[in-house]
Amino acid sequence: MSGAETEGVTKFYLDFRQAPPVEARLIAPLNVWRTVLRRLDLISQDARRYGGVGFGNVSLRTPAAALRASTSLFVVSGTQTGALERLTAWHYCRVLDYDLSSNSLTAEGPVPPSSESLTHAAVYRAAPWVQCVIHVHSPEIWRCAEALGLPVVDARITYGTPAMANAVGALVRRGTRNALLAMGGHEDGIVAYGAAPDETALNLIRWFARALEMSAAESPPKDGDCR
Ligand SMILES: [Zn+2]
Repeated sequence: MSGAETEGVTKFYLDFRQAPPVEARLIAPLNVWRTVLRRLDLISQDARRYGGVGFGNVSLRTPAAALRASTSLFVVSGTQTGALERLTAWHYCRVLDYDLSSNSLTAEGPVPPSSESLTHAAVYRAAPWVQCVIHVHSPEIWRCAEALGLPVVDARITYGTPAMANAVGALVRRGTRNALLAMGGHEDGIVAYGAAPDETALNLIRWFARALEMSAAESPPKDGDCR
């Protein structure tokens, strides 16, 4: 895999309006895992990585009735929140509508949505059983993805495009095992998805452990690179 895309740049057409936050209890089951992933540096901001732009975002499909905005499709963390140790409801927004073919998204909340919200949308659209999507950056899983047997989105597909959303959706629909995939053209990019936040995050952490183990087992050791 090769290639790197600029992180944090919103490439979709965004129709956003300021609105009150969702209720804290709605995002609590997701937000606590987001804090764990932040501590593991799978979500973060680092001056030495990706030009210092924050990375990692989380979302939760929400039953419309449970939200103030009755048309809400999912709740996603806001853009450039990677550096924050903890998020509150004020760091999340509601995605009200999206169109993958035109790369457009409508959202409302205290902050604009993550720049990778359309990738989340593609997963939700592809699989009705998915309730949670987590996007992290892990050099270890990404480099070892093929060796681990994880599905990898073709590196020639540019991140943040309808083609990427379609490719992600196709892999999810195909019932890829392990509910984890690597984004070949998006350096270190991993997408995890599942039926609940805890199982999605735990599965991701399990694969993180396997990747660390595989990196360590490589001989001769060369900076954790599986290739
Ligand atoms: Zn990313």
